[in-house]
Amino acid sequence: MAYRIAIPAAGESFSAEPGETLLAAAERAGVRLPHDCQAGGCGTCRIRLLDGAVTYDEFPFGLTPEEEAEGYALACQGVPAGDLVIAVPSVADDLPEPRRHAATVTAVESACDGVTRLTLALLDGVPFGYWAGQYLNIRLEDGEPRSFSMASAPARGVLDVHVRRLPGGRFTDGLLPRLKPGDRLEVDLPLGSFVYREADYRPLLMVATGTGIAPVRAILDALKDDPDAPPVDLYWGMRTEADLYLDAELRSWEAAFAEFRYVPVLSRGGPLWRGRRGYVQDAVAADFDDLSEHAIYLCGSPAMIAEAKRAFLDRGASVQHIYAEGFTTAARPAIAADSVLHGGWAASALRSGNGA
Ligand SMILES: Cc1cc2nc3c(=O)[nH]c(=O)nc-3n(C[C@H](O)[C@H](O)[C@H](O)COP(=O)(O)OP(=O)(O)OC[C@H]3O[C@@H](n4cnc5c(N)ncnc54)[C@H](O)[C@@H]3O)c2cc1C
Repeated sequence: MAYRIAIPAAGESFSAEPGETLLAAAERAGVRLPHDCQAGGCGTCRIRLLDGAVTYDEFPFGLTPEEEAEGYALACQGVPAGDLVIAVPSVADDLPEPRRHAATVTAVESACDGVTRLTLALLDGVPFGYWAGQYLNIRLEDGEPRSFSMASAPARGVLDVHVRRLPGGRFTDGLLPRLKPGDRLEVDLPLGSFVYREADYRPLLMVATGTGIAPVRAILDALKDDPDAPPVDLYWGMRTEADLYLDAELRSWEAAFAEFRYVPVLSRGGPLWRGRRGYVQDAVAADFDDLSEHAIYLCGSPAMIAEAKRAFLDRGASVQHIYAEGFTTAARPAIAADSVLHGGWAASALRSGNGA
């Protein structure tokens, strides 16, 4: 017997077959729910259960027990246990529809060891828009998608992404090193809902690891020079001084915001490093006793996000004011999530540094 899933705020409903995830059922019915990794790691598909319950094969990594206790669930992993009434983040309705585009590479530059700035221009002349914080999918030759966040505010009219190389990765270690200006790629955009929530007007705490700074930079790029921009505390976790490829620019933004504090945190800073050391989420936790008034944006390593959520909720942060995007990998999102819990790849990626 199918279950009925109602979204009263949108006036929509659809049915889910027994054993079917909420996201799969919504997609089958043509109902748009925000989602990214589809492996329970990134947290983008977080919805609120107003009535009813879901079950999980395995409790998803991208959800904390505190979030679950407050009625949140991840649509990509949650299987309805009966009829449901749900609420979906309202921003999803306003986001532009993604489309497939032909793009050409306009620049490929090294940002720092292991990170490449890739700049693209769309070829098809179709007007495009995106919200700062959204991402695009680059299609590999066989159509498999690889996700990268736009690093600039949309008004700049370019598509630039910051790509961390993953050894053995099909795109970042395979295709990217061979790309040159003039090469063609297929991309889908805009995607994702890690965007600035204007309605949630609170002091901003933004925490990124590695290339997780890219969508955060886009959001801040769009906000800077806005006299109504809220106060911003930006923490960026990297490994070494040489990794801080946006350091000068981020420091310069202190002049572009009425209140802007930028704190780089290095997990492997050299002997001359005078700044903060350790893991970025620990630095935030040390600096803030009370996060109950903040809107918190987390981006980068899923392990950092999971630890940050726990630490920040302990300091009074509220679940509905935390927005997160975990940079799961396409090839092994579940492995990444699982191994954080069991001390494998993703945990070692975090513990050996702040990289995303
Ligand atoms: C919404 C979103 C936005 C993102 N934005 C960015 C961004 O702005 N910048 C950025 O750098 N990253 C970003 N990411 C992460 C990026 O999409 C991944 O790193 C991407 O999968 C890399 O693609 P790849 O083809 O190089 O690696 P993949 O082919 O996906 O491989 C990833 C890793 O897994 C290993 N691997 C492959 N197959 C196996 C296997 N069977 N068993 C074990 N290991 C395996 C590879 O060797 C490699 O190390 C984002 C992710 C998401 C979900």
